Amino acid sequence: MQHQPVPDDIARELSRLTEGEVRLSPHDRGLYATDASLYQVQPLGVVIPRYIAEVPNLVRFCHDHQLPILPRGAGSSLAGQTVNRALVFDFSRYCNELLEININNRTCRVQPGIVLDDLNNALAEQGTGLFFGPDVATSSHANLGGMIGNNSAGARSIIYGRTVENLNALDVALADGRTMRFYEGAAADDPQVREITEQIAAVVLKYASEIKQRFPRTRRRVNGYNLDLILTQLEKGGLNAVNLSHLCCGSEGTLALTLSAELKLSPLPVTRGLAVLGFASLDEALAAVNPIINTHPSAVELIDDMVMKTAKLNQSARPLLHIFDSLADRSDTDINSALYVEYYADSAEELSQHFAALDRTVPDVPALYLHKAEEMADAWALRKAAEPLLHALPGLRK
Ligand SMILES: Cc1cc2nc3c(=O)[nH]c(=O)nc-3n(C[C@H](O)[C@H](O)[C@H](O)COP(=O)(O)OP(=O)(O)OC[C@H]3O[C@@H](n4cnc5c(N)ncnc54)[C@H](O)[C@@H]3O)c2cc1C
Repeated sequence: MQHQPVPDDIARELSRLTEGEVRLSPHDRGLYATDASLYQVQPLGVVIPRYIAEVPNLVRFCHDHQLPILPRGAGSSLAGQTVNRALVFDFSRYCNELLEININNRTCRVQPGIVLDDLNNALAEQGTGLFFGPDVATSSHANLGGMIGNNSAGARSIIYGRTVENLNALDVALADGRTMRFYEGAAADDPQVREITEQIAAVVLKYASEIKQRFPRTRRRVNGYNLDLILTQLEKGGLNAVNLSHLCCGSEGTLALTLSAELKLSPLPVTRGLAVLGFASLDEALAAVNPIINTHPSAVELIDDMVMKTAKLNQSARPLLHIFDSLADRSDTDINSALYVEYYADSAEELSQHFAALDRTVPDVPALYLHKAEEMADAWALRKAAEPLLHALPGLRK
C-alpha cells in the first residue's frame, strides 16, 4: 500500500480519467485534512469527479495502483470518518443532482453529493407534498452520500427511523471499480450480486446467535455494519430478500462507493406543534422521557444545563434562550434543563389532543406550547446550535 503523495506520472494518468479536478498541492491536502472531528490527517490528494460515470474508472485505476480511496460528502462527520492517508473522492462539488422523482411510489433517485436541504427544497418547489424524513442537524450541508455512509438519523427518528429505513437501492462502485445495483431481489437478478450475497450470508449465518444476543436494541444505533438487518432479511426470505444497500448504509464508505441512491419519501405533515418543558435538573428531564414517548411525539430532544450555560456565554445563541425566561415565570424553581416535545397532526384539533395528552402525562411540569412557525424555528435553532456550542467548550469537559 502506497503512503507517499501521488507521483507525477500517476497523477497525470488519473487526471486523464476525469473532467473534474485532481488536486495534490499541500494547500489542497491541508484543506481536506480534517472534518468536524478533532482528527487531522493529510490525505494523499483529492479527486473531484465531474461526472458520476467517471467514478468506476477512477476507482479501478486507484485499485490497480494500490492507492487507498476515501469518499467524502460535506465532511461533517464527528468521528474522523472522512480523514485518512488516502485519495479523497469529493462528491459534493459536481455529483449533486436530483435525478428522478416518482410521486406515486413516493421515491426519488439522487446522486451522492446532493445536500439534504436542497433535496427537500426541490421536492417542495415541485409541489410533491413529499420529503426525505431523516433530518440531521447539519441538513444545510450534509450530503445524502454522507448520510448513507453514516446511516444518519435526526430529531424525528422516532417516526422516520434512520437513513437505512428510508433507502430502497444503491448503485455502487466496488473497490475494484465493478459497478452493481443493490436492492431487495438483486441476488435473483444479477449473478455477481448473488455471489457477494452468498458470501455475506455465510458470515452472517455463522454468527447469527451472537448477532441476535449482542447487537444493542437501541432505536438510533448507527455504529457498525448492519449485520442484524441482513440476518432478519435472510430469515425472512433467504438470499433474494437481502438488500445489500442496507449493508452499505452505515459502512462509512468502507464497502462501496455510492454512485446513486433510490430513497423512500414521506408525506409532509399537515400541521405541527412544539411543547417546551422546563425541569429543575437533567435527571428530572431524563426521567420524563419514557412516559412522554407513549404520547406519540414526532421528536423528543434535550437541552441540558451545559447547553444552556454555554448558550448564555455565546453572543448569537444567547437571544434564543428567551423561551426559557417565559418558562421560568411559570415555575417555582430554576429551569436547568428542557425537553422539546414535537407533535405532527392532521388538524388543529388533533394537535390540541396531543398537547392535552402531554399535559396529563407530566402535569406538574411548566410548559410552553408553540404553534407559530417562527417560534418553533427559534426553539429548534437553539437545539441545532447545541453541538457547535459544545464543540467550543475549552478543556477536558469537551
Ligand atoms: C453540529 C453537528 C450536528 C450533527 N447532527 C447530527 C444528527 O443530528 N444526526 C446524525 O446522524 N449525525 C449528525 N452529525 C454528523 C454528520 O453531520 C451526519 O452524519 C451527516 O449526515 C454526514 O453527512 P456528510 O455529507 O457531512 O458526510 P461525510 O462526513 O462527508 O461522510 C460520512 C461518511 O460517509 C462516507 N461517504 C460519503 N460519501 C460517500 C459515497 N459517495 N459513497 C460511500 N461513502 C460515502 C464517508 O466516507 C464517511 O464515512 C452532526 C455533526 C455536526 C458537526
